[in-house]
Amino acid sequence: GKHAGRGCVVPFDPDMLGDERHRRFVERELRAAILMDELELHYQPVFDSATLTVRSHEALVRWRHKVRGTIAPGQFIGVAEQSSLIDRLGEWVLRRACADLPRLKGPVAVNVSPVQLRRAEFAESFADILIETGTSPTRIIVEITENAPLAAGSVEMNNLTTLRAMGVRVAIDDFGAGHASLHYLRDFAFDIIKIDRTYVADFAANPVNAMIVSAVCDIARSLKLEVVAEGIETEEQLQMLVEAGCTALQGYHLGRPQPLVVQQVVCAA
Ligand code: C2E
Ligand code: MG
Ligand code: MG
Ligand code: MG
Repeated sequence: GKHAGRGCVVPFDPDMLGDERHRRFVERELRAAILMDELELHYQPVFDSATLTVRSHEALVRWRHKVRGTIAPGQFIGVAEQSSLIDRLGEWVLRRACADLPRLKGPVAVNVSPVQLRRAEFAESFADILIETGTSPTRIIVEITENAPLAAGSVEMNNLTTLRAMGVRVAIDDFGAGHASLHYLRDFAFDIIKIDRTYVADFAANPVNAMIVSAVCDIARSLKLEVVAEGIETEEQLQMLVEAGCTALQGYHLGRPQPLVVQQVVCAA
């Protein structure tokens, strides 16, 4: 990399993630970044599809690296997930989101890694942070990416049940792209379905996608679940997803993830 040697900065190369030394290097840098508050949350608004007003925000983490600039989560979450660093990162994200909450409209959604959810003490430490920051659980949404099947009675499900009993809402993220099973819906383990943006992307081009999304919305309506369509980039997609019955909408067409300073200006306007 251009600064390799002095300061030991090498570029993040996804091909190198399999390299144990590189992984440990990124892990060490990230651990320091968390302690030194070099992470930052950007907030993307989620809109009500009936009124097209902001109803909530999703917190998305960024790493403000002193040399490399802003690094996207896709570049470091995977590394964090290979150690307990993901737990520290998750705690940092929740604390920051709770601190920012008074300046945001509506609830805030935080992404939680399946690795965090596997810890027996997850729900308890989550609750501790809400208490410590004086945050009402009803203003927090937890987004879980369904990249591994969640079994009934598992540690993961117990954590989710504990959070939901407190009033935290739970969303299945990237629905339709992973392992989500209909039993998730049957067992009422979730409150919100976030339809993966691949369905949104070729919604117009592929009529089968449109049928699937409409059918998911029908089921969700009967079960009184919210359906968020994510990744809306065009007015056409927006119109079609409203028509399909999605209750909420998110995507660059409506609002990009922004740091809180910018967000405030938008809210005040
Ligand atoms: P996600 O939770 O599904 O978040 C949505 C991603 O899509 C975000 O990317 C967002 O910036 C992007 N996006 C939003 N609207 C559009 C659109 O209209 N078009 C396109 N092409 N993209 C759009 P981002 O911020 O890079 O995050 C990527 C993933 O990283 C997230 O996917 C989430 O799984 C993970 N992530 C982000 N923040 C955190 C965090 O604090 N903790 C954990 N564990 N994971 C996180
Ligand atoms: Mg998400
Ligand atoms: Mg995701
Ligand atoms: Mg998603």
